[in-house]
Amino acid sequence: MRFNVLEWLEHTSKKMPDKMALWDEEEQLTYKEYHDKSIGIADAIIKTGYGTKKPIAVYIEKSAKVLASFMGVAYSGNFYSPIDTEMPEARVNKILEVLRPGLVITTRKLAEEFKSFDYHGKFLFYEETDGKEESQEVRDTFNSVIDTDLLYVLFTSGSTGVPKGVCITHGSVIDYIDWVTETFGITDKDAFGNQAPFYFDNSILDIYSAMKTGASLYIVPQKLFSQPVLLLEYLKEHRINTIFWVPSALIVVSKLKALRNVDMTGVLKRVLFCGEVMPNKQLNIWRKFLPDVIYANLYGPTEITDACTYYIVDREFGDDEPLPMGFPMKNTDILVLDEEDHLVLETGVVGELCVRGVGLAKGYYRNREKTQVAFVQNPLNDAYEEKIYRTGDLVKYNERHELVYLSRKDFQIKHMGHRIELGEIETAVSSLPGVSLCCCLYDDKRSRIVLFIDKEIKKDEVNEQLKTMIPEYMLPGKVIIEEKMPINANGKIDRVRLKEYL
Ligand code: AMP
Repeated sequence: MRFNVLEWLEHTSKKMPDKMALWDEEEQLTYKEYHDKSIGIADAIIKTGYGTKKPIAVYIEKSAKVLASFMGVAYSGNFYSPIDTEMPEARVNKILEVLRPGLVITTRKLAEEFKSFDYHGKFLFYEETDGKEESQEVRDTFNSVIDTDLLYVLFTSGSTGVPKGVCITHGSVIDYIDWVTETFGITDKDAFGNQAPFYFDNSILDIYSAMKTGASLYIVPQKLFSQPVLLLEYLKEHRINTIFWVPSALIVVSKLKALRNVDMTGVLKRVLFCGEVMPNKQLNIWRKFLPDVIYANLYGPTEITDACTYYIVDREFGDDEPLPMGFPMKNTDILVLDEEDHLVLETGVVGELCVRGVGLAKGYYRNREKTQVAFVQNPLNDAYEEKIYRTGDLVKYNERHELVYLSRKDFQIKHMGHRIELGEIETAVSSLPGVSLCCCLYDDKRSRIVLFIDKEIKKDEVNEQLKTMIPEYMLPGKVIIEEKMPINANGKIDRVRLKEYL
């Protein structure tokens, strides 16, 4: 029974002090160094008199330093919130307005940039903190943290333009990581190749599964994600056997035929993905080259601690079939609710996916209004208070009673009287030859479906092929060729940018 994620770091750093914990292009930290640096940072935080249970922002370029800072914050009894050093100033200011941190961990150099933001609190400079094996003050603070205390606040985009800070506790991360490490059998013999930015919830799986088991975590240099051959060679060189990436990152590899050029046999053991739809056509390329790998589709929003359903790929799929999102994770319950909030159990009936479980966030930081809209009383329980999270994602059960993702509720459109999930059109388009990435949006003004596609092709030609898969009324009214599909900071297709082209 654990109350605090740092018990993992304590345990692992004692059991295997010299094992490599973190790797980035500049430095490598063993588990002992990782632990000692975190204690040193916590000690410095406590000495500033900052107190506990407060937000501390971390403003450092993606590196091992960020993770040591996160753990330092946690050891000090506070919670961290990463701020991307590439983020536009206006958005940083919006985050600072919500978070109101009184302390920022950064470097002397980056602090100069940070001073231009709306921030008047203190700074702690990473390079001026030392590693420390022990500190009684840190130990006392650490022992006072319980599993309902916050570990981090991650900001996601809000529909009103104000970013929402998702509040996640130690207990939620412990529950999730216990499931991950048991389900995928992660041990100290494994090595993770991290793609997800640390302000994106997918990184939780990498960071804490490694810390719990003593696996090594390689922070893959960002530039490699546009050079797939070098990327695969990097994985091979470092014997990275586990990756958990967004589908767009996996597609870059399958699309550019890198798997043909680098022999990856025996390198990868697990290819896990989450964050957006993985088209089977692309997954089939991976499966053809690497048939012995475990592939798993994880699904979930930040508000439920990274993921809440999973599907371990266990059978063949045609290129045009959707890959299921599978089943609820252990200790998580999924409710599919129709428009009247009735439970949907029948095959093929569309409903909104809602979640129950300890993975649920404590809501949005300083935003009760938005919290009350998304985290609501379970409509199936009128006996006591029980919250569920409404994901806004539409799903259905297939004939095997596996969950299948359809689209965001807000991607559901009415066109010529028909209710259409744009995701269904995307699944059909992505199965066409030569297409790797595509995205459908609805142009309300002109009442037409717009398809963005990364293949040089005429509208009539696409529609001729699509006709065999989807009804006439779902055919795109306009096709826009985007050879280089815009990708957002999390690595997913940037729908907001594409919307500007309508
Ligand atoms: P985020 O909070 O940034 O992780 O985004 C969560 C959203 O990404 C979900 O609500 C879904 O709309 C989408 N998503 C996450 N995982 C998947 C998946 N495996 N398949 C399809 N969509 C997904």
